[in-house]
Amino acid sequence: MLEVERIQASYGAAPALWDVSLRVARGELVCVVGPNGAGKSTLINVIAGLHRARGGRLAFEGQDITQLPSHRFCSTGIAIVPEGRRLFTTMSVQDNLELGSYLPQARSQRAASLERVLALFPALEQKLQQPAGALSGGQQQMVAIGRALMSRPQLLLLDEPSLGLAPAVVLDMFQAIREINAGGTSVLLVEQNVAMAMELARRAYVVEEGRIVAEGLAKELMDRPEIRRAYLGVE
Ligand code: ATP
Repeated sequence: MLEVERIQASYGAAPALWDVSLRVARGELVCVVGPNGAGKSTLINVIAGLHRARGGRLAFEGQDITQLPSHRFCSTGIAIVPEGRRLFTTMSVQDNLELGSYLPQARSQRAASLERVLALFPALEQKLQQPAGALSGGQQQMVAIGRALMSRPQLLLLDEPSLGLAPAVVLDMFQAIREINAGGTSVLLVEQNVAMAMELARRAYVVEEGRIVAEGLAKELMDRPEIRRAYLGVE
């Protein structure tokens, strides 16, 4: 479904990604983990068309999207939940959600999509008319994910959805991501919460200093002593 081949990216003269390749098959839940500053956000932003790659190739459903202008990415079937949520805090929750469905095809399914989002996140039902900025961090993350789902994506990109949330809220968030994937949406999840992300995902990539340093089945990666030492603090 998604093929990322030897992507290179930089900020000015400073390289951020070197020859990064990864794949997401239809229906898969894949995670990308790694330390702060490893290049995870850059990678997900390149895939979403928000940051232009300097080299390499991106393909989605067999179509080369490497040179696609960023405003056309939303019609590809890829949706991103960016780090920090980026909600319109003074607008109502409902308006934020509906912004996700402004393209004609998504707009025609708006009511059904909203119903699906509320079934996934029932806590939002009572909050629809409140300004998004008045919600708790966890609820704001639900709105950000809900807004992405309103575009009916085939592939959902999630950048650190657990960031800044209380542990109990993180558990709920991961359960919701599991449900989204079980409903047929492919997911690429970027996380610093390695233990939980590896439990959720079938396959994983480890990024360090802009390079993929390990990849494979999440269960197998978690058995590798060097990964346990680096990411779980286990000897
Ligand atoms: P974090 O979890 O902290 O977001 P990350 O793995 O997502 O880390 P990136 O944010 O992709 O890492 O950063 C990769 C590298 O690019 C880092 O060295 C970072 O300092 C640099 N970088 C990121 N954004 C910018 C920017 N807007 N301008 C310049 N350098 C940047």
